[in-house]
Amino acid sequence: MPMLSRSAVRILQYRYLFSGITVLVSRDSLDLPNEALVRRCLDNQLASDWFCEPALDYTTLMLEDDAPELSGYRWIPLREYFAGGKPDVPRATRAMSLLKWRRNTRFCGTCGGALHDSTEETARKCILCGRIVFPTIEPAVIVLVRREGELLLARHAQRNTNVFTCLAGFVEQGETIEQCVVREIREETGIEIKNLRYVGSQSWPFPDQLMLAFKADWASGEPTPDKTEIAELRWFKQDALPSIPPRGSVAYRLIMDKE
Ligand SMILES: [Zn+2]
Repeated sequence: MPMLSRSAVRILQYRYLFSGITVLVSRDSLDLPNEALVRRCLDNQLASDWFCEPALDYTTLMLEDDAPELSGYRWIPLREYFAGGKPDVPRATRAMSLLKWRRNTRFCGTCGGALHDSTEETARKCILCGRIVFPTIEPAVIVLVRREGELLLARHAQRNTNVFTCLAGFVEQGETIEQCVVREIREETGIEIKNLRYVGSQSWPFPDQLMLAFKADWASGEPTPDKTEIAELRWFKQDALPSIPPRGSVAYRLIMDKE
């Protein structure tokens, strides 16, 4: 496992500066900041946290939420960076997830003691009781249901947009991934599915999800939105899709993949 280093921060090839869920890129491209800018941010104490992982060749800094404008650069939502399709997206995801985890993991849940960085692994250790705390990952499923060439997509009640997407939900204690898919679809739509097929996975740092993507076929029932999470459910033909999530998201991949 790569090791975080804070004591001897080196400015490596990939340089991620975050502020909230935005990332700093060049004003007219998705290029990351140059070494001099990162050095300047560190020297001027603009970062609330920072570290590097030499094994993965990146350095990352978290600036305050009201981070200043930096000449020649712009802050863009991390999702927009993902949509650019650059190959370093997994690395950027890891940097952002670990920074957020460090910010939210400061005291031991057992004894209340302060946590400090482990010198052996990517973990934090309680100064009093020695408990080791690892970064958390929350498994979630995302499912595209099809019936005779049409795709079942949902508009979410809380997001207040006209974007339609796949159905999704978190895995609960005691259930398998497959049981989770069946339960989520039943709860959110009232339908039953068959022919469940695993498609792939994606790390998704909003917050710390591992999205496990599936396709399934409709088996029975009329889709009826639960109205709490889902405002509207509709079948769409592949060549007449509504607004869908952007490129770079696993939902986009599921919807556009014609397999
Ligand atoms: Zn403790």
